[in-house]
Amino acid sequence: MTYVIAEPCVDVLDRACVDECPVDCIYEGARALYIHPDECVDCGACEPVCPVEAIYFEDDLPAQWSGFKEDNARFFNDVLPGRDEPLGSPGGAAKIGRLGTDTPLVAEQPSHAPQ
Ligand code: SF4
Ligand code: SF4
Repeated sequence: MTYVIAEPCVDVLDRACVDECPVDCIYEGARALYIHPDECVDCGACEPVCPVEAIYFEDDLPAQWSGFKEDNARFFNDVLPGRDEPLGSPGGAAKIGRLGTDTPLVAEQPSHAPQ
């Protein structure tokens, strides 16, 4: 089981959740953050600090964002645009830094940036 970051994080990415995660398993793409499904220990510490309610336990994901569970995993398992190999399981986001690329699902989301 895992927690999942869904659509409301897109273009917000204030990283409040990152500061709460005891295992540093929340990774930063270009427009959103992603929780590593195998590294997450299901502690729930990240969920209440998200200002836009983007984080859900996988069983509680609203139906309109159900695709984000698989999509968070895709960020680590697929070869993302601009990269040569999957990210895999680095065991910590701090040393990876900002990846600068996203899954296709996140990349195609309409802009949330303030107008
Ligand atoms: S706290 Fe919420 S909006 Fe902020 S980076 Fe984390 S998931 Fe995204
Ligand atoms: S539930 Fe806990 S371990 Fe999982 S991403 Fe959130 S803070 Fe990290």
